Order: sequence, then C-alpha cells, then structure tokens
Amino acid sequence: MAPVLERLKKYGSHAAGSGIILAAAVFLAGCSAPKPPQTIIEHTGNFGGFSALNWTNPSAAPLPAAPPAQTQPQPPPPSVNWIPLNEWAAGHDLAPPRRKGSQIILESSRGKMRLAIGVIEAAWNGIRVSLGYPPRMVDGRVCLSDPDLDKNLEPLLCAPPLGFGTNRVIVIDPGHGGHNSGTHSVLDGRFEKEFTLDMAKRLEPLLQSNGWTVFLTRTNDSDVSLSNRVTLAVSRHAAVFLSLHFNATPDRNPDIRGIETYCVTPVGLPSTLARGYSDPVFLPFPANDFDAQNLQLAVHIQKALVRGTGLEDRGVCRARFMTVLQGQECPAVLVEIGYLSNPQEAALIENPRWRGKVAHVLASALP
Ligand SMILES: [Zn+2]
Repeated sequence: MAPVLERLKKYGSHAAGSGIILAAAVFLAGCSAPKPPQTIIEHTGNFGGFSALNWTNPSAAPLPAAPPAQTQPQPPPPSVNWIPLNEWAAGHDLAPPRRKGSQIILESSRGKMRLAIGVIEAAWNGIRVSLGYPPRMVDGRVCLSDPDLDKNLEPLLCAPPLGFGTNRVIVIDPGHGGHNSGTHSVLDGRFEKEFTLDMAKRLEPLLQSNGWTVFLTRTNDSDVSLSNRVTLAVSRHAAVFLSLHFNATPDRNPDIRGIETYCVTPVGLPSTLARGYSDPVFLPFPANDFDAQNLQLAVHIQKALVRGTGLEDRGVCRARFMTVLQGQECPAVLVEIGYLSNPQEAALIENPRWRGKVAHVLASALP
C-alpha cells in the first residue's frame, strides 16, 4: 500500500476516484493487540475459482491510532459545533462510548462504530466509513461535529433500518456507454462501459426473480446523458438507484485496488472526494432528502460487495459532483467494483464468471 501522502496524490478514478484517504499501513499502525486476520466466508481465497485478494475480516481490523494531518480535507467552518460524544449518546439512549486503546467505541442494537481522535475514517460494523471531520478532544472530552453526528452516526446507530418496502422498482445504471467509454483494462484495453453493461444485464433477471421491477438506464452501447439517467429513475418512481462502475487511478497506479461505494454528500459536510470540482458544503440536492437511507444503502452494498468478493474495503465515500446521484428522489448509490488499472482486479473484472458471481452478490443484497 502506498504511503498516505503518495496515496493522496494518486487516488482517484476516471469517474469517481478513491475517497477514503487512509493507507492500510496507517490503518494498522499503533494498534493495541491487533487481532489476526480471520477467514469468515466460505469462498475466501477461492471466489468461484478466482483468487480473492488479501481478504481479512474487516471487523477484525483495528482503527488507526495516529492520524496523518493530510487526512483532514478541509478545516470545519465556524458554524460547526463540537458536541461531546457522551452527551450525544446519553441523548440517544445509548451506552456511553468506551475507550479501547486509541479507539472510541459506540454501540447500539444496530452495531458498533469505531472512531479515533484526529482520524477522519471510522468503521461501522467493520466497514470503512468516512466522516466529514475528524473527532477531536475539547476540554478533555471526545467531541464530534454536529453534522457528523446527524448525518453519519445517527443514521447508522439510531435511525430505522433500511427497508425496501412495497415499491419494488429499481433502476440499474450501467456506467458510461457509447462515446463515453469510461476507463479501460490495464490488461488489454477493454472498456469499462462493456463490463458495466454486462453486469447490469446479469443483475436484471436476478433482481426480477427477487420480485423487483427493473429498469436499466441503457441496454446497449449508447451514450445516455447523466441527467437522463436521473430522469428515468424519477419518472419510474424508483425505490432504489444503483450505478455500476469499475475504477482506475488517473495515473494507472497498478497498486491501488478495492471497492468503494458512493452516495451524495449531506449538507454541512465536506465530500470525501471532489476531484477538482467545487464542493459547496451548504448546497442541497434533491438526493439530500434521503441522506440517512443513502448512507444505510451505501454501507449495506459496500459490506455485501467486500464480503462477497474478498476485495479490499476502500470504504463508503461521499461526493457532490456526481450528477447521476444529485437529483435522485430515492436512495441512490454508485459502486466502483474494483480497479481496471490493477492487473489482478482487471483479470477478475474481465472474467464473465466473476461478473456473474458479483451480480449474485448484489442481488442477494437487494432481496
Ligand atoms: Zn465509471
């Protein structure tokens, strides 16, 4: 894994880029009594005949202890309030947070959140989640920003769990198409648009068998505008929008790999990734009406993909610039299912059997 600074320079993608900005070396640094890697899924190391990459149980991975200053994307605006975590927990009928080495652990009936002072990354039930601002000590007390409490902790620890209800309409968005080829495989140059469409077509009948009415934003190699992809979902009154992508670093760094899931950034928080676009913290989008469900869906899908494929968990990330997410009127996420700039992951992505397996993983996550 690249050092943090190097990774900060190199992460990113053709379409979405990498969001979580903490290298695994840091993730594992300074841990008190780290647990050994655990094997917890039956197809570990042999995923449908394909080697899984460095699979360890995410829940066994401790949080980083010493944050690099570079992980703080921007200073919080003056309007941010710093709320003592124990007061917030008491106000939400939760047990007080407890310390375990450098970790701060907060639990509810829904799961366990691990935090660390000065670290922008958290872990929710073992899945990496990016906060807007690192927790900090104020007057000797662990504090979180109020937008992080409202938009990250509350939806996961306290809000009603995600349910798909009776509106069984889902829009699957195969990323790119036509002249918009997306990125390409490091192995042979095949385009991302081919694999996203194939994945969508594999997923469609599986979701239909789960009782979903499925619409695809494109069914052939056509260049559908991002706004029209949103319009389709809105006009069909979709209950879920899922955009399928495969990743690459801008400089084709072969070492970067793993899975990321994006949802739109809540008002009041900085994005995990802006990719050079402006990131107006207080600009609302229609999709912000679903901030809690967006995060719940993103965590749910990310967890399913990481555990189902064995690929590295690069975390749940937030972005504002993704047009395909901004205007959604239902829970909506964009997944980057591995890196076509990484030779091992490109080999997986190019293999139709592996894509079929991933389609089953996604369908199982959307019962
Ligand atoms: Zn893409």
